[in-house]
Amino acid sequence: MKPGKIIETEIINNAPDGRGVARYNGLVVFVHGACAQELVKAKIFTVHKTYLTAGVVEILKSSEIRQKSFCVNSDKCGGCPLSHIKYDEQLKIKKQAVCDALTRLGGIDLNGAQVFDTAKMEEPFRFRNKMVFPVENIGGRAVGGFYAAKSHNVIELSDCLSGEKAASEAMLLVTDFLNREKISAYNEKTGKGTVRRVFVRCGKNSHELMVVIVSATEKIKNIENLVQTLKSHKFDGYILKSVILNVNDKKNNLVLGAKNITLYGKDEIEDTLLGLKFNISPHSFYQVNPAQTEVLYKTALSFAEIDKTKTVLDIYCGIGTISLCAAKDAKQVVGVEIVEKAIFDAEKNAKNNGIKNASFFCGAAEEVVPKLIEQGASADVVIIDPPRKGSDEKTLSAIIQAAPERIVYVSCNPASLARDAKFLTQNGYEVKKVAPVDMFPNSEHIETICLFTK
Ligand code: SAH
Repeated sequence: MKPGKIIETEIINNAPDGRGVARYNGLVVFVHGACAQELVKAKIFTVHKTYLTAGVVEILKSSEIRQKSFCVNSDKCGGCPLSHIKYDEQLKIKKQAVCDALTRLGGIDLNGAQVFDTAKMEEPFRFRNKMVFPVENIGGRAVGGFYAAKSHNVIELSDCLSGEKAASEAMLLVTDFLNREKISAYNEKTGKGTVRRVFVRCGKNSHELMVVIVSATEKIKNIENLVQTLKSHKFDGYILKSVILNVNDKKNNLVLGAKNITLYGKDEIEDTLLGLKFNISPHSFYQVNPAQTEVLYKTALSFAEIDKTKTVLDIYCGIGTISLCAAKDAKQVVGVEIVEKAIFDAEKNAKNNGIKNASFFCGAAEEVVPKLIEQGASADVVIIDPPRKGSDEKTLSAIIQAAPERIVYVSCNPASLARDAKFLTQNGYEVKKVAPVDMFPNSEHIETICLFTK
């Protein structure tokens, strides 16, 4: 078997990343662009010991779960790898991915657990409140869009159905300005040029809009003309409240540099989540799908069964969104988070919302949590929402030592959830409930809430 060979094969399953799964000569084949129940001609891309990768050349028999993608750029853009699959089927694939991870990687028997269907969006479009459009010079013009799959080549877009229309409008106004003023966009290879990205945040409930122009240079010729254009534009559903120049002069892949210069309006915009107010700056971590965040938090809090007698430990608390939502019903909430600015925001958010029974600790969970527990801090309920790599044995061991009645684990990665679930179930806890939530329709990402009880 060599790359380039064309094979005819039946697709027997869907991989969580949207590729079809086939078997060929005893090997598993991951077929890009195919889905279950299809018969396809596919070209072999890569050959590995136990599997092959391939791409569809021709669909000989199409599947009932296939849909015509809603986006003209879906073949090129890397953003929505599940867009050729009907939404209800995407939800089933995601639920299966969570169950497979917990059973196969975590060794968990889910028969005793309540496993919910993936919580869906009514309309799986325009759900993102944050969009980051890379900007590049193509054919002598500055264009904005998204990166092609697994590359840094910009695919020019005029709109993206994952984000608000207002975000695309802002991106187009910035690239039009660059072209009108004959200003060169940043070139990743040479490190020359100005604007690298247009970063837009939308307050879904407040309708406030923030446009961040990320530039390698602090000065952009006639930038006041751009500010004027943005100010006079009527954005779809949003009111412009903030224009910020973010300076990122480093040769790296980070979206933002450290320095923000407010060109118009406020330094932060405001939004509400489950009735609480949050201030959001360019650097703040804030969940990007606000409608599904409310579903996620409501589910997590219902699993937590908090009341006024309970002390809650919220580990990996970010700007304190879950902590503050929990505080309304709890006796006391303690949040732990590694990013100093996030803790600063969490404390400010508590104050702005008149919440007095929440306190926050800044530091690595694996250091702070064992210390808190050793010092006798009690935790009736632990909520943990770690980054993709999951938690670690130091933090989990400290949680086990604290012996909470309930652990509510919010996960953005089924594999690390499964690893941590294995540790918890080997140490006196059992999985009671599993609820997948679709925060990123049409993508391979899935969020899960898992309830462990003692
Ligand atoms: N619960 C929050 C944030 C979840 S994202 C929300 O829903 O908005 C995960 C958070 O974990 C991030 O804020 C990240 O900064 C933080 N984090 C990452 N590694 C950490 C560590 N070792 N200790 C504590 N916090 C960490």
